[in-house]
This record gives sequence, C-alpha cells and structure tokens, in this order.
Amino acid sequence: MRLTIFQSLMAGYLTIMLLVLSFGSYVAFELNRLSHISHLAAGVDSNVIQIAESLSTRLRLLVSIEKKYWISKDTDFFLLFTKRQKEFSEELSSLEPLISGTEPNNSLRTVLALSHSYFNGVNNRKNDVDTAHSAIYESNRDELVETLLYSLNQIEQVSDKARDEKIRKSEMISKEVLWTTIAFATACIILSLIVSLLATKRIVRPIVLFQRKTREIAAGNFARIEELQAPLEICHLADEFNIMSERLQELDRLKEDYISHLSHTLRTPLTAIREASEMLNDGIFDDDPKSKSQLITIVRDECKRLIFSVNRILDLSRMESKMMDYQFVDSDLNELIQTALSRLSPIAHTKNVRLNFEPKADLPHVRVDTDQLHQLLENLIGNALKYTDPGGSVTLNVEAPKTAGALLHISVTDTGRGIEPQNLQNIFEKFRRIEKGKETTRGSGLGLAIAQHIVKAHGGSIWVESKKSYGSTFYFSLPPA
Ligand code: ADP
Repeated sequence: MRLTIFQSLMAGYLTIMLLVLSFGSYVAFELNRLSHISHLAAGVDSNVIQIAESLSTRLRLLVSIEKKYWISKDTDFFLLFTKRQKEFSEELSSLEPLISGTEPNNSLRTVLALSHSYFNGVNNRKNDVDTAHSAIYESNRDELVETLLYSLNQIEQVSDKARDEKIRKSEMISKEVLWTTIAFATACIILSLIVSLLATKRIVRPIVLFQRKTREIAAGNFARIEELQAPLEICHLADEFNIMSERLQELDRLKEDYISHLSHTLRTPLTAIREASEMLNDGIFDDDPKSKSQLITIVRDECKRLIFSVNRILDLSRMESKMMDYQFVDSDLNELIQTALSRLSPIAHTKNVRLNFEPKADLPHVRVDTDQLHQLLENLIGNALKYTDPGGSVTLNVEAPKTAGALLHISVTDTGRGIEPQNLQNIFEKFRRIEKGKETTRGSGLGLAIAQHIVKAHGGSIWVESKKSYGSTFYFSLPPA
C-alpha cells in the first residue's frame, strides 16, 4: 500500500505517541502503587507502632496505679485505675482494624485475651478477701503483664519491619520508574530519529533520482522513471515527470523533423535559384531565349515560394506572441470564399481537381480580418487540393446559423487520401507533418497551426473529420457580425 508523505509521517509519529501513552499509563500505575505503599507505611504501620507504644506505657501506668491501690487501699487509686483501664481498652480497640497478617493478629489476640484476664484479675482481687488467692494473683500478674508487654512489642516490631519493607519497596519502585523513564526517553529519541530518517530517505532518494533523470533529459536522453518506492505524492510527480519527458521527447523529435523539413523547404528553392542563376551567369542559354525565360521563371517561382515559407514562419511567431495585428471589417462570406477559390482555381485546374461551392443566400455578414481569412481559406483549400488525387473534388459549404447570433459553420471537404484517426488529435500542432520526412508533398507543417490561430482570434473554433482513403472535412466556425 502506498502512503502519502503526511500519512507515513503520521504513522511514525502515531507509533511514538502510542508508546508515550502506554508509558504514561505505566508511570501512572506505578505512582499509584507508590502512593498506596507510602500511605500504608505512613498511615497504618506508623499508627500501629505509635498505638502499641502508647498501650505499653498505659499498661505500665495501670500496674503502678494498681500497686498503689493495693498498698494504700485508697479507692481514688482504684477509680483512677478504672478510668485508665477504659482508656486502655478504647485504644486497644482502635488498634484492631489496623492489624493485618497472621503474626500481628496472633499477638493482638494474645493482648486482648491477657488484658481481659488482667482486668478481670484486678476486679476479682478487689472483691475477693481471700489472701491466698491474692498471693497467687500477685505472682501471676507480673508474668501476665510481661507477656502482654511482649505481645505489644511484637506488634510494634512486626509493624516496624513492615514499614521498613514498604519504604524499601517505595525506593525500589522510584528507582525502577526513574530507569524506565530514562530508557523510554532514549528509546523515543532513537525511534523519532529512525522515523525521521526513514521518512527523509523515502523523500530524498526519489528527489536524487529526479535530479539524475532531469540531468539526463537536459543531456538529450529522455529517460522515464520506472517503479518508484516513494510516497504517493512523489509517485504522482513521477507520472507527471514521465508525461513531461515523453512530451519533451516528442517536441525534440518534432524539432528535428522540422529542422530537416525546413532545411528541405528552404534548401530546395535556394538550390534551384542557385543552379538557375549560375546557368544564366555562365550564359549557357544566351542563344536560346525560350530556355532562358524558363530559367528566369523558375528563379521567380522559387523566390515566391521562399518568401511564402518565411512569411508563414514569421506569421506564426507573431500569432503565438499575440503580436499579430488584426483589422476586423464586416464582410460577406460568400465573396471571401469565392475570392479564395478563384485564387486557387489554377492549381485545381492543373491538378484536375473539381472545386465546388454553392453561395448561400441571406447569409449574415461576418466581422473578420479579410487578409487573414483569405489565408485561412487558402490554407484549407490548398491542403485539400494538395492531398487530393486528380479526378477528385474539393467542396466548400457554409451552414447558415439556425438562430440569430449563433455561429456560422464553414466546411472544406475533399475526396483525398484522408487522415488516420491517431493523427487527428495533433494535426493542428505546428510543424506536425504526417509524412515524417519521407514526404512526397511539399509543405511547412504550419498551415493548420496558423489556421487555428486565425479562427481563435475571430472567436471561433476549428476541427476535422476524416476517414483514411475516403477524404477529410475541415470545419471552422465564425460568429456573425
Ligand atoms: P503542410 O504545409 O505540411 O500541409 P499543414 O499544417 O497545413 O502543413 O498540415 C499538416 C499535415 O496535416 C499535413 O502534413 C498533412 O499530412 C495533413 N493534412 C492537412 N490537410 C489535409 C487534408 N485535406 N487531407 C489529408 N491530410 C491533410
């Protein structure tokens, strides 16, 4: 599939954008994980440590109040004990939801059970007057409190460890994200460079090829650009380049044809003039006035032909550069055609070709440059005579416009050799001659090009219909005056 420059650049950059997007999602996910771990470390573990520490302190205080009570039997101490016990129990219950994991849960269960036994023990001892029981309690309590403190310490240590572990994990994630970011940024830079390099290569390589081919064309080798691996726009440019190259090749061929043809057109009369003038100069026919007069006629005719050819070339360049001066006047088309026919009738007579024209009544006048219109008619009738064999005919016809203001159509039909369909397209191009060098009929290849310029300058158009070996009809249209 061929992509345009924009599409291939977009494909490359979209890939990079997709990568950046997926990397963004990865960073967002990792940062979220990091924030969760930090929250656990700072919010949960630190809280657990703090509460466990506070519970240990409270327990020690409770034991000291309890001892004071046993010694003094002062009920205020017992009331204080009860108050502190309540605070202890509340703090302990605030610890419960923060604990997770088997080991801390076991320690918490121990703390709950032992603190319960401890407070029960104190209350039982207060209500119990049995001194023997009191002595047992006394010895058990220290052990129970030690176990309680040990369990609280266990919770504290496990949480401390968990917090350290979380901090370590956070550091690890931060480092991982940092290195991934560095690696990704490097990959992105390399990928962008590769995309730019590939895109540039896909554009620069054909440009270099274009440069080479253009140089070849300048050197006269009309090369084509075949099979190009390039973006769509450049492929289209290559197609246009090939069309241009073909056209230039054709123009080059036309130029060569023309030079050979023109040299033939100019050289033939010039050679005839030179030969005739040399013979006259040498006095070869001094004793033969008839032959001498024939030679002078040849010189005169060839001079006329030469002037005619040079004038055609000058006319065409003036028309092409829009420097032709047209003098438009209202004219009768019947008269114009009749004048052109009478000028060409000697040639028709010599060639034994019939000239037919039926003047049309009520034809609207046309506004034309009469000299140019004569040239146009003579070019068309002259061609028709030139390319029609003896015994044939050339017929002129004028179609009066069906509606007022519509164009008049004039046609010149011959029964000559006709034109092949492939040549009909470019027959109006200058220097275009179908004979291609081995012509038997003299011509400049400018007549139809000049005819087209004249018709266009009058606001009409010119076209041809023809059938090989049957004849041709040249049509042109003119607006009414
Ligand atoms: P030229 O001076 O060579 O006739 P034109 O421009 O008048 O130049 O004509 C170009 C070519 O068109 C001619 O070489 C000829 O091959 C062809 N052509 C023109 N008119 C006719 C026609 N009536 N019948 C056949 N071919 C024609």
